[in-house]
Amino acid sequence: MYLFRRIADLQVFLKTERVNNRALGFVPTMGALHAGHLSLIQQALAQNEITLASIFVNPTQFNDASDLKKYPRTPGKDLEKLAAVGCTAVFLPEVADIYPDGTDSNLSVDLGGLDTKMEGAKRPGHFDGVVQVVHRLLTIIEPQNLYMGQKDYQQQLIIRRMVEQLNLPLNVCTVPTKREDDGLAMSSRNVLLEPDIRSQATLLYHTLLEAKNRLTDGHTATKIEQWAMDQLSQPGFRPEYFSIINGKTLEPITTSLPEHIVACTAVWAGAVRLIDNMILRQ
Ligand code: AMP
Repeated sequence: MYLFRRIADLQVFLKTERVNNRALGFVPTMGALHAGHLSLIQQALAQNEITLASIFVNPTQFNDASDLKKYPRTPGKDLEKLAAVGCTAVFLPEVADIYPDGTDSNLSVDLGGLDTKMEGAKRPGHFDGVVQVVHRLLTIIEPQNLYMGQKDYQQQLIIRRMVEQLNLPLNVCTVPTKREDDGLAMSSRNVLLEPDIRSQATLLYHTLLEAKNRLTDGHTATKIEQWAMDQLSQPGFRPEYFSIINGKTLEPITTSLPEHIVACTAVWAGAVRLIDNMILRQ
């Protein structure tokens, strides 16, 4: 596996691969890798000749300095895991390489309001940071295929919208959420959960599953949202939102049911904020 820390070295490698017409799949990550990340790598490996992963804890998408500070970092183990699945190359830049002119962004993309709901409302500036870093990485790497996880449903939709708005010549592929055996969505933050909270954290998955059943049984979105917020308010847990939304626009569901319906939730599990979602109808 090739390891690049400098943009110039990475670009020399990518240039050679492009000359040879090899399809490049790119998986951006913030490291602390788990099997969810590796499923993106595996899909990229299956669909491209070259798979590049990046590991970069992007400061501009953290609206909370303590969250950035405690974000898990395990670069040695990450490299072992990437090598074990056969990832072709890894890009491990420093903040100064990604933001040589400082972290202020002058990129302006019309996200059509996708960035103001749910995570955007609760974490001001978060998606500006995500768009900024993914755009910067895409400019450096110019992949044919970009792999994003369904785990961050709103994020993948926003990146799709950015790619469309800027007419970037690449495909965005969304990979299903990988879960632990008890249903908890894999996340780098799961290692921060207290053991007693971790043992109950399957609550999110079960609430999403039951929401799906209830929608199928004809309950209204509003009633299901109210039920879910109650259900998630267990000792040690505090839901921020549980939203049943149009999966294309992220707008709330009113009377008629759209073709794509997704439930998205954010819940404080002890001191750790977890997000999860489930496609209720597609
Ligand atoms: P992160 O390192 O959290 O920024 O995640 C990097 C990529 O992996 C993002 O596209 C995430 O949506 C995706 N990802 C994270 N957790 C999972 C999971 N459990 N299943 C599938 N994809 C995931």
